[in-house]
Amino acid sequence: MGCTHDCGSCSSSCTSKNNKNFKLECNKNSKIKKVIGVVSGKGGVGKSTVTSLLAVSKNRKGYKTAILDADITGPSIPKAFGIDHKAAATEDELLPVCSPTGIKIMSVNLLLEDETDPVVWRGPVISSTVRQFWTDVRWGEIDYMFVDMPPGTGDVALTVFQSLPIDGIIVVTSPQELVAMIVEKAVKMADMMNVPILGVVENMSYFQCPECGKRHNIFGNSRVDEIAEKFKTKVLAKLPIDTNISASQDNGAIENIDKDYFV
Ligand code: ADP
Repeated sequence: MGCTHDCGSCSSSCTSKNNKNFKLECNKNSKIKKVIGVVSGKGGVGKSTVTSLLAVSKNRKGYKTAILDADITGPSIPKAFGIDHKAAATEDELLPVCSPTGIKIMSVNLLLEDETDPVVWRGPVISSTVRQFWTDVRWGEIDYMFVDMPPGTGDVALTVFQSLPIDGIIVVTSPQELVAMIVEKAVKMADMMNVPILGVVENMSYFQCPECGKRHNIFGNSRVDEIAEKFKTKVLAKLPIDTNISASQDNGAIENIDKDYFV
């Protein structure tokens, strides 16, 4: 209803729009084999943490790995990797910053003069920044690019799905959320965009007492297995609440975490 047939400026996600191909060519000096979007229902469940740990895991296995931080208003990737210098640029390209172990990263925080400045931009500006991260960043050869999506299923998430050739999405949940609803929303969005769900990661799944080894379900009992089965997807990992995880991000040393949760 009220369709102007100008899909480019419309935020609706109707079928005719979703079937149109708005995919952008990636930067001319880049070759990116797999693009994986990491999504969550809301902020604070550990989407950026999981994105970082997924990248660390792939990088350790010898794959050329990158993170495109599309969480423009809540960019936390550079800090987790201890990156405190800005991204460089040539006349027509931005250069990603390399983490200590060689993961290529682009984030709005690498471009802001002062990273504590809030990004108070409107939706279209945010969306166009994400598109530029795809078209104007000289990523080079990449085996796996992880896209830290903005939380939820709003404007920018839609832009990412429509503009980037996402090969699959990983859904991050925590036990206290309405997991079924969040997974269902993600499945529906992925279906609309013709993108497969690669699996679900349950973060803050449990706390294991360092003294006695007993597991405590701080945020309630997990239902992620039955929900994954219902939506015919799989549980990729269940991450504990672990101060090593939070402290390593606070100290910019997420690459030093000795455990690989995604074997
Ligand atoms: P989101 O990207 O979903 O907003 P973050 O990944 O930024 O969430 O995580 C929110 C906060 O929770 C961060 O301070 C992070 O260090 C912490 N956190 C995330 N996952 C864990 C975990 N498994 N154990 C301990 N702290 C965690």
